Amino acid sequence: MGEKENLLDKVVSLAKRRGFVYPSSEIYGGFAGVYDFGPMGVELENNLKTHWWKWMVHKRQDIVGLDSSIFMNPKIWEASGHTKGFSDPLAECKECHTRIRVDKVLGDIGVFADEKMSEEEINKLFNEHRQEIKCPNCGKQNFTDARRFNLLVKSNLGDFTESGLDNPSYLRGETCQGIYVNFKNVLDSNHKKLPFGIAQIGKAFRNEIAPRQFLFRTREFEQMEMQYFTHPNQEMAEYEKLRAYRWQAVLDLGLREENLRWKRHENLVFYAKEAYDIEYNYPWGFDEMEGVHARGDYDLTQHAKGSGKDLFYQDTESGEKFIPHIIESSGGVGRLLLAVLCDAYTEDEMGGESRVFLRLKANLAPVKVAVFPLLKNKPELVAKAKEIFEKLNEKIQPIVFDDNGNIGKRYRRQDEIGTPYCLTVDFDTLTDAAVTVRDRDTGVQERVKETELLSYLSTKGLAF
Ligand code: ATP
Repeated sequence: MGEKENLLDKVVSLAKRRGFVYPSSEIYGGFAGVYDFGPMGVELENNLKTHWWKWMVHKRQDIVGLDSSIFMNPKIWEASGHTKGFSDPLAECKECHTRIRVDKVLGDIGVFADEKMSEEEINKLFNEHRQEIKCPNCGKQNFTDARRFNLLVKSNLGDFTESGLDNPSYLRGETCQGIYVNFKNVLDSNHKKLPFGIAQIGKAFRNEIAPRQFLFRTREFEQMEMQYFTHPNQEMAEYEKLRAYRWQAVLDLGLREENLRWKRHENLVFYAKEAYDIEYNYPWGFDEMEGVHARGDYDLTQHAKGSGKDLFYQDTESGEKFIPHIIESSGGVGRLLLAVLCDAYTEDEMGGESRVFLRLKANLAPVKVAVFPLLKNKPELVAKAKEIFEKLNEKIQPIVFDDNGNIGKRYRRQDEIGTPYCLTVDFDTLTDAAVTVRDRDTGVQERVKETELLSYLSTKGLAF
């Protein structure tokens, strides 16, 4: 196994061991394509979402937030084209019934294919390369032809017929439809002028044929999407601005620039003007982390037709009336979290021992500071450490108190979850009112006065 594939195994194992990510329903044998986020994972997720919201809403006067429902009128998915066109090409192994996603399997052997190709186009490529493709389960080469498989997840919500799914409602396949159908509401209630954007973070569901690569392709995931409404003439200029802005936002997370690149879509859907993805260099190679797309007037036009409602925008000064064009930024929390974990995962040697640590930026770290009494069985040290913990906790959250095991072990535990600073209370603290502060990345220890702790941590980059 290559070093990079090994990295995925190491990250998956650390994620489980330290409470970032657990396989769903594990005690019942698991459930494919879904994951649970543990105590550290939920903190990291929240920090990523806060970062995104700060960049996409709070730093911007021209963008507002939304939290639309997961269930929506099924007509929305008809108008958007999802009930017919939201599908991936699937083939089944005739020997063991394992299903493969043909575009991805072709991609793995270096043949360009994507989910937007027609059944005919994809089968032509599939047939040309069948001898190079083995079933990932049984190794045989006996596949059915590829056929399209719809990704929308159906439910019987509100359908009381015997079969229950005669008139399905859908769990949303993407969050942005909730934004499009609220365009007029937001416009009317907020008196926004074009260009302006609506941002939303929320769960999406897709019946992925082959969930794989840990959090990269799951059936339930969270999306962070921002739809920006522009005058048709502004669309491409705003698109370039949004691309540059997202690049800055991603770099601000501390991801290494050499692990990021832009990838232009080779095969645009018929209505799209332009589409680029930001790819991250995952353990299996560069792959889509988020997208920035120019979608023209397709979305609002479809919903105007589907609903029969007027979704025009009228410029108050010029009087011009038009359907706004949309550019979007669309990313998944899970794909970002996986990129952040892979990027931060570091092995080195400290004090003659090998160690693993997460080199996370302080604002992303699930725990900001850990406070230790040097010894658990010395009440005066424990009491002092608790006092310092309580004081710090009023200003900085979340922080932890840990007196379990020797100091070396406690450092290792905090290193593995990426805690930037550990403070140790020792016997000297009782007389000099100072603690030892240890830096996660360098292991360097400094003596800092209790009264100066907050300003010290703030100069080191902790925000509170
Ligand atoms: P792919 O081609 O990899 O299936 P996509 O192009 O269909 O992805 P979009 O529909 O553009 O993805 O969704 C926007 C973002 O949502 C993606 O960039 C990704 O971060 C996230 N995303 C999409 N599908 C999944 C999934 N199955 N699991 C996790 N995240 C996903």
